[in-house]
Amino acid sequence: MNYLSTRNKDMRMSAAQAIAKGLSPDGGLLTPAVLPRLPSSAVETMKEMSYQQRVVYIMNSFLEGFAASELTAYAAEAYGGGKFSHEDIAPVRRLDDNTYCLELWHGPTCAFKDMALQLLPHLLTASLEKNDEKKTVCILVATSGDTGKAALEGFRNVDKTRILVFYPKDGVSDIQERQMVTQEGGNVGVCSVVGNFDDAQAGVKQIFSDEELAEVLAERGYFLSSANSINWGRVLPQIVYYASAYCDLLKSEAITKGQAVNVCVPTGNFGNILAAYYAKAMGIPINRLICASNQNNVLTDFISTGTYDRNRTFFNTISPSMDILISSNLERMLFELSGRDDKLVREYMSQLAEYGSYRVDSSIRTKLKKEFSAGYCDDQQTKAMIAKMWNEQNYLIDPHTAVAFHVLEEYRAETGDDMATITVSTASPFKFCDSVLDALGVKEKKTGLEILDQLTQVTGVPTPAPLARLKKRQRRFEGSVDKDAMKRCVLDFLK
Ligand SMILES: *Cc1c(COP(=O)(O)O)cnc(C)c1O
Repeated sequence: MNYLSTRNKDMRMSAAQAIAKGLSPDGGLLTPAVLPRLPSSAVETMKEMSYQQRVVYIMNSFLEGFAASELTAYAAEAYGGGKFSHEDIAPVRRLDDNTYCLELWHGPTCAFKDMALQLLPHLLTASLEKNDEKKTVCILVATSGDTGKAALEGFRNVDKTRILVFYPKDGVSDIQERQMVTQEGGNVGVCSVVGNFDDAQAGVKQIFSDEELAEVLAERGYFLSSANSINWGRVLPQIVYYASAYCDLLKSEAITKGQAVNVCVPTGNFGNILAAYYAKAMGIPINRLICASNQNNVLTDFISTGTYDRNRTFFNTISPSMDILISSNLERMLFELSGRDDKLVREYMSQLAEYGSYRVDSSIRTKLKKEFSAGYCDDQQTKAMIAKMWNEQNYLIDPHTAVAFHVLEEYRAETGDDMATITVSTASPFKFCDSVLDALGVKEKKTGLEILDQLTQVTGVPTPAPLARLKKRQRRFEGSVDKDAMKRCVLDFLK
């Protein structure tokens, strides 16, 4: 199967090229030339499979040039070998007869980024080999928290890869910092940057556009790449868990054959909910896609008005992984909803770059409304939902997940739609102890790693093993650099 650019359908490449490149040279996102339809027996077939087998079943139809035996090996490396603390990998928890929670945080870093970043390194190295690339790839990441750690874990000790992560000195939580500076593996590097996330990101962008540096690195046998959420190799593994969750509901007889479900997804870059759309397009019976945002509600406005406008105040919220004003993966959605009109997508994206806004035409607005519902909540409401879930259901959830449950509750009250709904849970509450304890009314909070024990004492819920283990881990990476010294770090790292 070929891949094309959302900004130019004539730009064609293979699956291996799409994954290796990440982004089309014209700035567009690489997307399958046709979306495969699952056979009508697919759900029945997948129902009896393990998660790893479902990975192979779904991904096979997107990855021409990859043998099923290869995919089986990658799925085993990514999700097997005890890397996930739950045998179902992405278990579905029942809350009541029509409310289910898909837990995507049983991986090594306790956030949903693991679902894709455990698999991507294998897809990427295989792609490079298929493309006859001789140089070693070095992944550069600027992170505001979750992505950096998940990428480090994913690429740790993967042959023919290196990974260097920059994080803002004062922009990550104690736990997130400890997760990164104690990272194990022979091919990894971690460096903190004086400043905020934008400084770190600007520094990485500058390094990527430095041609002189690229030449020096090429002589040393390296080239730079990123593990962005717009890479097809990150979107694809996310389609699997929607199909998997549907099969699990059917298997447990929570739903009957062919019965449709809604999904409710806490959304930032639009990658996770886009995967749900693709699962639906392939034939999984999904009804409404409910898009949940925090106070940075650019997507809520877009879905209700058809105007995307990033010219607005940016809020730092307690669901920081959704603090985003440009949702990059939305471009793929526009491509589908416009009937794959590459010229129109190009036009909207150039308006976004120039004015920070665009308005989609009435046909796209109609389709958006047909597929999506949207809502948002503020930090107060997020905390209230954490408390409510704990008090009424004895279920401890993180702030991102709470945003989704709040939006679902509002959606149901407004529409009366009581269809079975899968709400997506994207992080362990232990990654955000501070806000969760706040929500539970705890006034005096511990600092550092002790806050993990405190949350356990207050709730009786055990700390996930990968976080509990941090106490025993040595700090391997110390010190921080100015933004201007980031290039030096890269040169030292790739000696
Ligand atoms: C990245 C992230 C999100 C947002 O996912 P998108 O794919 O960017 O929409 C939500 N919650 C958590 C915990 C995340 O790490």
